[in-house]
Amino acid sequence: MPYTMLAMRILLTNDDGIYAPGLWYAAHALRDLGEVIISVPDREQSGVGTAITLHHPIRVNEVPSFLPGVTTYAVEGTPSDAVILALETLMEGDVDLVVSGINQGANLGWDMLISGTVAAALQAYFRGLSAIAISIAALTDVPYKPAALLLKSLVPQLMEGAVARPFLLNINLPKKSVEEIEGIEVTRTAKVVYMDQVQEGDDIRRPYYWIARTRPNSETPLEGTDVAAIRNNRISITPLQIDLSFEGHAAEFQAVTPELLEKLKGVATLPDPWVAEGGEAPPWMARRTRTLRPLRGATPRLICDGLEATLAFYERLGFKVDHEYKDKEGQRWEVLLRRDSVTLRYARREKYTAAAATGFKRKARGVGVDIYVTTLNVERIFDEFKATGVPMDPELTTTYSGAKEFAVMDPNGYRLVFGQPGTPR
Ligand code: MN
Repeated sequence: MPYTMLAMRILLTNDDGIYAPGLWYAAHALRDLGEVIISVPDREQSGVGTAITLHHPIRVNEVPSFLPGVTTYAVEGTPSDAVILALETLMEGDVDLVVSGINQGANLGWDMLISGTVAAALQAYFRGLSAIAISIAALTDVPYKPAALLLKSLVPQLMEGAVARPFLLNINLPKKSVEEIEGIEVTRTAKVVYMDQVQEGDDIRRPYYWIARTRPNSETPLEGTDVAAIRNNRISITPLQIDLSFEGHAAEFQAVTPELLEKLKGVATLPDPWVAEGGEAPPWMARRTRTLRPLRGATPRLICDGLEATLAFYERLGFKVDHEYKDKEGQRWEVLLRRDSVTLRYARREKYTAAAATGFKRKARGVGVDIYVTTLNVERIFDEFKATGVPMDPELTTTYSGAKEFAVMDPNGYRLVFGQPGTPR
C-alpha cells in the first residue's frame, strides 16, 4: 500500500549527538514527508557500534527543538539506546521509517560494524522496520545539502513501494557538491577496515594509550564496492542484511568438530588453574554466582517474597524507610531503606505473595546473590549489627583485595556484604 506522505512517521537518530548539524539538515529534509521525531544521544557517540546500556539507568530529556514541530529527545546513552527507547516507549503508534544521520564521516567497508550510525539503523531493522544510515565522507567543511536532498527524493520513492520493506540501507556521499557528484551506485561492502593504531603517551601522571583509526588495510578497493564509489565521487547505496555466518568455512569446521568432542570427553578432570599451579583461588571465584553492585546512580531492585519480614529485619539493623511506592493496581510495592550512606531497594510483586502465603515454601529469591555495599564505617556498622544478634558471618575479615568486609544474610536469601575498600595486596 503506498504511503500517504503526510501520514508517514519517521524516527530520526544519529551517533553524533543532538548538536550535530547533519541531524538538523536531515530533520529539515524529512519534515515535509511526514511527522519527524528525533531521539538522539545527548553527546557524540561515534564509534560505539552496537553498544547498549545495561548497567545503569538511562535518562531522557525532551528538549526544545531547533525545528518547530519536531519532537526531540536527548538520551543519555548510545545511538542504539536512543532507538530502543524511542521505538519501545517514547513513540506511541506505528513508525514507518528510521533514519540515522546525516553522519559526519564515512561509514564504509567493514568499519561499518563499529559505526554507531549504522548500529542505530540496525536496531530499527531488528524490529522489522525499514532503516537508512546516511553518512558523508568528510570530517571538515561537510557538505550536508546533497545528503539532505537525497533523503528528500529517495525516501518517498522507497516508501511508495519501489523496494520491498523492510529494507536496510547504508548510504555514503562523497565530499562533493550536487554538481560535482558523478553518479549514484548500488554497491557492496568493501573488505576494507581502518586498522587501529595505538599511540602511546604520557601525561606526566601515568602513561596512556590512544586508539587512532588512521590506516586502511587495503589501498585499492574493488570496483562495485562502497569505498570505490566514494573514491570515484559517486554516492554509494549499500543494501545490507544481518547474516554474518560464513558458509565458505562451514565444511572445514565440520570436519574438526567430531574429533573435538572426543577430545573433550577424553579429559578426566580439569583442575582449577590456581590449584594446578599450587596457588589459592580468589574466594569470589567459588562464591559469587551473581553480584549486584550499585552502578552510576542505580540502586539494584531486590525482589523479595515478603516485604513485611524484610522491613522488620532491616529495622532491627537500624535502617529507616526513606521512600515507599505502591502502584494503583497493588501489583508492586517498593521501599528504599537507608542507614548511614547505604541505600537498599526492595520490591514485592503481587505474584510473589502466593508463595508468601504458603510460608516461603519455595527457594528464597536471593540465593547465590551477593549485594555489595560500600561504606566507610564498616567497623562501627559491624559492631552495631553484632549487638542486635542477627545471624551474620562471625568476623570482620580482610579480603583478597585488601577490603574489610562482613556479611549478613537477609530473610530473602541475599547475602549482604558490607565492605570498606582497602589497598590491594
Ligand atoms: Mn558519527
